[in-house]
Amino acid sequence: MPARLAAVAALLLPPAAAAAPPNVVLVFADDLGYGDLGCYGAKDIKTPNLDRLANEGVRFTDFHASQPVCSASRASLLTGCYANRVGIHGALGPGARHGIHADETTLAEVCKSKGYATGMVGKWHLGHHPQFLPTRHGFDSYLGLPYSNDMWPNHPEAKKGTYPPLPLFDGEKVVNADVTAADQAKLTRQYTERAVKFVAENKARPFFLYVAHAMPHVPLFAGDAFKGKSKAGLFGDVIQEIDWSVGEILKALDEHKLADNTLVVFTSDNGPWLSYGDHAGSAGPLREGKGTVWEGGVRVPFLARLPGTIPAGAGCREPAMAIDVLPTVAKLVGAEPPKRPIDGKDIGPLLRAEPGAACPHEAYFHYFAQGELQAVRSGKWKLILPHTYRTMQGQEPGKGGTPGRYRQVKVEAAELYDLDADVGEAKNVAADHPEVVKRLLGLAEKARADLGDALTKRTGSGVREPGRLPPE
Ligand code: MG
Repeated sequence: MPARLAAVAALLLPPAAAAAPPNVVLVFADDLGYGDLGCYGAKDIKTPNLDRLANEGVRFTDFHASQPVCSASRASLLTGCYANRVGIHGALGPGARHGIHADETTLAEVCKSKGYATGMVGKWHLGHHPQFLPTRHGFDSYLGLPYSNDMWPNHPEAKKGTYPPLPLFDGEKVVNADVTAADQAKLTRQYTERAVKFVAENKARPFFLYVAHAMPHVPLFAGDAFKGKSKAGLFGDVIQEIDWSVGEILKALDEHKLADNTLVVFTSDNGPWLSYGDHAGSAGPLREGKGTVWEGGVRVPFLARLPGTIPAGAGCREPAMAIDVLPTVAKLVGAEPPKRPIDGKDIGPLLRAEPGAACPHEAYFHYFAQGELQAVRSGKWKLILPHTYRTMQGQEPGKGGTPGRYRQVKVEAAELYDLDADVGEAKNVAADHPEVVKRLLGLAEKARADLGDALTKRTGSGVREPGRLPPE
């Protein structure tokens, strides 16, 4: 075609016709620490498939869960909001009578607005009553446990009678009313098979697949093919099975020729549950773990691959948080952002490793427990606010699935850490930088006015109610 004609034809063709909208696969591990993957320094756990993802995409080294606990973390990932904004705190148990509100917009609904097929396998944890289930919040299909796998009568730590039998859902139907230990050992494989099937069934249209593994949350279970295979005990076996699972999904994308047009993301909901000792993961060089806002509780692996868009082998050292995933995906798939205000921002420039790309937030806020603002992060600075946290320092470690006992530690006055120089948060430099402390305290005040703070007894003007069952 002559050049002029080609130019005219290019003008007439709508740009959307040039490329199909990208698929999105989001894999979420549970209680996997910053140091638990080969590509993040693990020596005794082999994760070739996740390492491949890092080599073919971008690896973030300063990515955070918004809260160091399951339900709150998931609420942020799926709504783009701080969890306390949408009224979800802590970890919802089988007795919970609330869940995600019908008026919140989930990542699945964002994708659905653009005609995506949406599927989920794994742990939901945003309410187990029918109106809160994934199928009522944007997912066409669902297979998984409604909450954590330790909320289970057979968990050695569950006092007899504390928990009802643990159900497995397919859609809105309970297909296994009493999950056994043998069933738990099959979960990772079962989720993987369903995920691979979903990819095959939806290969001809854009799709969003959310794979939220039950593992490596305790009680740990590995499939027969993985037991005893790692050099890091049962915990390592479990991670190697998750790595296998990621490999199966990557293989399915390759087989259906979808790899070049699929964003694959892997991350974790919070850091390692350290009281479980040899059944817990590792936060690598970071301080503390799950249930604390020290880096070990909130900094997690984050890998993303989208060939042709994300440069292979890129690294990102800028701070980012799970609240940013929803707006980033919305932008990528060309969807409108949710109608209700959200907290996250598009981190597409960071994913694409654009020159000069920077964190789009002045600050991130680390809430924990029932709406306690415990830390503020701005650039390289992190201010730990006065609060009480748990530690295993000096305690007898857990073993073989039985946890040790945490001890409580009180932070009496605000502490400041320079995370560029001191990622392990070992040296409080508040006295050397009073102007930085003052600025971060000012940011904390703004957050309290909007999102509240139980530590200073503040009610936020911007917090919303979760969905609730009518009173009994
Ligand atoms: Mg968790």
